Amino acid sequence: AALHRAKKDASHGRLCFYSQEMESVYTSRRKRYIQLKNAIAKHLVVPLYQPIICAKTGHLQAVEALMRIKDENGNMIPPSEFITLAEETELIIPLGELMINLVFDQQIRWLNQGLHIRVCINISPIQFLDPSFLPFILSVMDQKAINPNMVELELTESLMLENLTQIKSDMDRLRKLGTSISIDDFGTGYSCLSYLRDLPVDSLKIDKSFVAQLNIDNPDEVLVKTISTLAQSMKLSSIAEGVESQFQAQRLQELGVPLLQGYYFSKPVTADQIQTRYLI
Ligand code: C2E
Ligand code: MG
Ligand code: MG
Ligand code: MG
Repeated sequence: AALHRAKKDASHGRLCFYSQEMESVYTSRRKRYIQLKNAIAKHLVVPLYQPIICAKTGHLQAVEALMRIKDENGNMIPPSEFITLAEETELIIPLGELMINLVFDQQIRWLNQGLHIRVCINISPIQFLDPSFLPFILSVMDQKAINPNMVELELTESLMLENLTQIKSDMDRLRKLGTSISIDDFGTGYSCLSYLRDLPVDSLKIDKSFVAQLNIDNPDEVLVKTISTLAQSMKLSSIAEGVESQFQAQRLQELGVPLLQGYYFSKPVTADQIQTRYLI
């Protein structure tokens, strides 16, 4: 990109070069940042919920809460457009707290309508590692009278590169109450597998890129099979994400994956849609 402009930095008297590209990246980042702050201040966060299905019975086992942000026109912005920025700016902490509050409130609303639904919540490593996280989630569960057994936290392998002693003690605390821990996007994190031996984890979520390799014409099963076997031999549960076809659902069940999630069953939907679908 051509450097088209040089500015004198007023405070430091240095010359700074900006390209048009850099400037537009900066401007859109700035816009996203303001939008994010606004979403937090005005509570424009909306959780969608995607069913997790028992492969054997076809019954609803849980839902995964997936965050969306509403923009000024009411459009839903997906996490791919804001999670990284939220993590870089630590806005993921208030954002994540808001999300947890919304999901727990919804769980109580479902409960009052007679729906006992287990919820899985994605927790960013930045959020999990923050010292405020554990006291926060314990106190909201307590205040809202959430049954910790009905809550599962999804963490990614990148977390396992951090202080394992601290992570283990936080996980132990949560699991003693009954909350489960799953490893999201398992197999994509370039992490050393020994954390599976050291940390109290309940289940592995097989990343959708591996599930996608189970295509009907030329299925490549090796990674799914390996992860499923690993889970079984470590007495962990497993969940396949990104299940898009009957063929995949069938094969995954045959390969011993007990829980399935993906567009084949349902895309992420609103809380009301969950209710109309499952309240019978
Ligand atoms: P994830 O936790 O691995 O969630 C699965 C993603 O796959 C979701 O994307 C979901 O909509 C999508 N998906 C579900 N079924 C299918 C399918 O059959 N095919 C395909 N191609 N995709 C499918 P989404 O909702 O855009 O979320 C993306 C990521 O953003 C999540 O990946 C998670 O890492 C992150 N995220 C979402 N909500 C939160 C949150 O509340 N907090 C944090 N920290 N991260 C979140
Ligand atoms: Mg997830
Ligand atoms: Mg995942
Ligand atoms: Mg994923």
